[in-house]
Amino acid sequence: MRATILMYHMIDTPVTPAEVRFCRTRENFRKDMQLIREAGYHVISLKTLLTAIKNNTHIPDNAIVITFDDGLACNYENALPILQEFGYSASFFVVTSKISGFNDFSWDYGFSCRRMLSTSEIIAMAQAGMDIGSHTVNHVILGKAKTQIAIHEIRDSKAMLEDALGHEIPHFAYPFGSWNPTVRDVVMTAGYTGACSTMPWPNRPDTDPYLLRRSEIKGQDAPWQFRLKLHFATNTMPPITEMRQLTRKFLEKTGVISLRKF
Ligand SMILES: [Zn+2]
Repeated sequence: MRATILMYHMIDTPVTPAEVRFCRTRENFRKDMQLIREAGYHVISLKTLLTAIKNNTHIPDNAIVITFDDGLACNYENALPILQEFGYSASFFVVTSKISGFNDFSWDYGFSCRRMLSTSEIIAMAQAGMDIGSHTVNHVILGKAKTQIAIHEIRDSKAMLEDALGHEIPHFAYPFGSWNPTVRDVVMTAGYTGACSTMPWPNRPDTDPYLLRRSEIKGQDAPWQFRLKLHFATNTMPPITEMRQLTRKFLEKTGVISLRKF
C-alpha cells in the first residue's frame, strides 16, 4: 500500500505576492484532476486510507487523497464544482471560529481579505459527499501552545462541527503542520481516527494515522512538478539542473555510468 495525500489551500487567483504559493487557479486545478485521471491514479477518501492502515487491508498503490486546509469560501465556489465534474471526493479542514467570517488569521502573512465558508456551504459540501474535518478553532500553532489551549482547540472545534453537521467529525489537520507528542495524543484521545501533518512522502501501512504525510501542491507548480509530486509525494521539487546532478550522482554511485559521461 502506498498513498499520496495532496494538500491544497485556495482554488482562486492570487491577489497578493504572499498568496501565490497557496492559490491554485481553477484552470490548473482542473488540469491536476485531469492528470490524476489520465495517469491512472485512484482518488480515495481519507476514511478509506485510514481504514486500510488500521486493518492492513489492500488499496491500490497509486491511491490519491485530496485535502484542503483552512476552509476558504473558494473551496465551495471553485473547488467543489471541479471535484464533482470528475466524481472525486475530498477532505476540507475548517477553522471553526472563522466559519461565515474572514481569513483574518492570515492577514499578518500578507494575505488579502477573503471570505470563509459559511455553515450552509459546509452543510452543502457534506451533503455532496465531501468530508469535513477540523483545523482547530483559531488556527493556532499547536506545537507551541499550552496543553489546555491545545485541548480546547482540538476538542471544541470537533464538537462545533458535529453540532452543525449532525454527524461525527473523524479527521483533523494540524495548522502550519505544527505538532508535538502531547498534541498528537490530545488529537487521539479527543476521538479523531486520524490527522494530517505537512510532512512529505507517501503513506504506507506503518504510517502513524495521527501523523499522516501530505504533499503540498503550490500555486506555481508546473504540470511536470505536479506529476512528480503525485508519484514521490514530496513538498519541494529541486530545480531541473539540481535534479540532473542528483540523478548523475545516483547513477555513478550505482556504477551505471562510471565509464562514460552523463
Ligand atoms: Zn491552515
